Amino acid sequence: MGSGVGRAEGEEGAAAGSSQEDADLRSASDRPEDSPDVRPASGGADVRPAQEAAEVRQFWERLGLPGLVDVHTHFMPERVLRKVWEYFDAVGPLTGLEWPITYRGEEEERTAVLRQFGVRAFTAMLYPHKPGMAEWLNDWAVDFARRTLDCLHTATLFPEPGVAAYVRRAVDEGARVFKAHVQVGAYDPADELLDRAWGLLAEAGIPVVIHCGSGPAPGKHTGPEPVRRVLARHPRLRLVVAHMGLPEYEDFLDLAERYGEVRLDTTMAFTDFGERLAPFPRRALPRLDALGDRILLGSDFPNIPYAYVHQLHALERLGLGEDWLRAVCYGNGARLFEL
Ligand SMILES: [Zn+2]
Repeated sequence: MGSGVGRAEGEEGAAAGSSQEDADLRSASDRPEDSPDVRPASGGADVRPAQEAAEVRQFWERLGLPGLVDVHTHFMPERVLRKVWEYFDAVGPLTGLEWPITYRGEEEERTAVLRQFGVRAFTAMLYPHKPGMAEWLNDWAVDFARRTLDCLHTATLFPEPGVAAYVRRAVDEGARVFKAHVQVGAYDPADELLDRAWGLLAEAGIPVVIHCGSGPAPGKHTGPEPVRRVLARHPRLRLVVAHMGLPEYEDFLDLAERYGEVRLDTTMAFTDFGERLAPFPRRALPRLDALGDRILLGSDFPNIPYAYVHQLHALERLGLGEDWLRAVCYGNGARLFEL
């Protein structure tokens, strides 16, 4: 979910403090000496690496899919990610829930895990919490996408002077998806400063994964209302509402029903963890079914307090059938990103 970056100071130039070193030491000492494969040590759910990869692959093989498309995974500059992990380690003050990170490891280990799972395409969801940071994150993301060919080149933005120009530059450099985090960024997505950037992204047809729901913690500008104002001005904008809009599920389903380019990602929704935070209303299941061509698999890997396969099983137990699962776990993403 990434709420922690609101406290992060990992941008360029920030000195790594002793807490940073502690975090590094902790993750190193967590790693079992005899770890049989590349799977990083489990800091969260008790999962067995090889067994989990087999379970994930069985899931999509059984559906006859070539793999998975996951629109919501986090890769970011190492120092920023460590800060996010430190935050979750401190027992998410925002949620009051323990949030042990399950997939803690070096960047190559984390990409290797996704490949073992058969994730054909994933993203590098990254986001600034203050002005002057987005462009630096975008530069990092260009490099990450170049060295990680199965990552959909991701960029981000913030309401600040010059945002339209750097969004244009990111698009010209090949960005295929954007991330906006309304709670961490603490901005109004309908801020006039973003207007040209939204217009440009709508015109280019580039999806924007937007964390705009009020879960796990509300922000000044979270909830459906600001997004409604953005869409009123940019009805063709391809917003992908993260976490199914948790907890305002039905309000965001309303928006998806009204605007044909609005999509939702499943990240954390329907899992045991997500259901404890905000149960999805059973009465809305038929609407999920009807929107089956605009719901996209998202996982929040690696920042999840449970095994990756649980997200898949959580989708399956909705009982919406195999065609729905095939569309959500692969087809919709493949079509959207022309894979
Ligand atoms: Zn996230």
